[in-house]
Amino acid sequence: HKTGNPNPNVVVTLSNPGLLDCPICFEPLTVPVFQCDQNGHLACSSCCTKIKNICPSCSCPIGSNRCSAMEKVVESSTTSCRNKKYGCTTPVTYNKKNEHERTCKYSPTCSCPYLGCKFVSSTMELYLHYINDHGDSAIEFVSDNFFTITLKKYNKSIVLRERDVSTLFILHNNVDALGNVVSLSCIQPIFKEGFMYNLVARHRGSDSVKLRSVTQSIRSLQGYPRPRSLLLIPQEFFSSDSNDGQLEMDVRVHMA
Ligand SMILES: [Zn+2]
Ligand SMILES: [Zn+2]
Ligand SMILES: [Zn+2]
Ligand SMILES: [Zn+2]
Repeated sequence: HKTGNPNPNVVVTLSNPGLLDCPICFEPLTVPVFQCDQNGHLACSSCCTKIKNICPSCSCPIGSNRCSAMEKVVESSTTSCRNKKYGCTTPVTYNKKNEHERTCKYSPTCSCPYLGCKFVSSTMELYLHYINDHGDSAIEFVSDNFFTITLKKYNKSIVLRERDVSTLFILHNNVDALGNVVSLSCIQPIFKEGFMYNLVARHRGSDSVKLRSVTQSIRSLQGYPRPRSLLLIPQEFFSSDSNDGQLEMDVRVHMA
């Protein structure tokens, strides 16, 4: 047994971090990396096209010779995600850093839950944006008190907002075989603790189903993971006098 590298995890510090960037466009180098035929000047593949395969430093051809040594360096250089302080421990290769950070689940920013809106920001800014741009489409509530909402059977999500913590909540509602499956989540970074909440759905005042759980933290409506627990509301709870059945539901979110 023979190993070429006695210390496979050796940490190297570059005194010039720009060495891993394309010297022409300054973006992180990605494979393939090209070098000019005479002097080994580097360029990324998109720059080779832009400079019409003529090296800007020495005017010799570039675009047919790859620099495999640099490709190996680029592929094996790992760095940490900028969300490390929020709990992300994923080592990312330098050239995939931007790509990873765009979708990193530890990111402190959240996406607007309004259909089609692309706004992304911190929880507080998102709350203000929602009020300014989407007006009354969220139901305002006060924490620690029960409030009643009307849940339509086929309405997949309802946006709720709490003023004191300037935070948006989502009531998720999905039609399932036995009834509707309902849960509450909070739009906030996933490293933040959830809020205790209660849901109560009644049927003609006598039967009721209840849930007491903790909100799941989600950064966008798309990235909704499986909730910790959910409320199953039987089919017959929804009024049958219209095609689009609905019911009244009591909700309470605890801030303390
Ligand atoms: Zn480039
Ligand atoms: Zn050159
Ligand atoms: Zn990350
Ligand atoms: Zn929006």
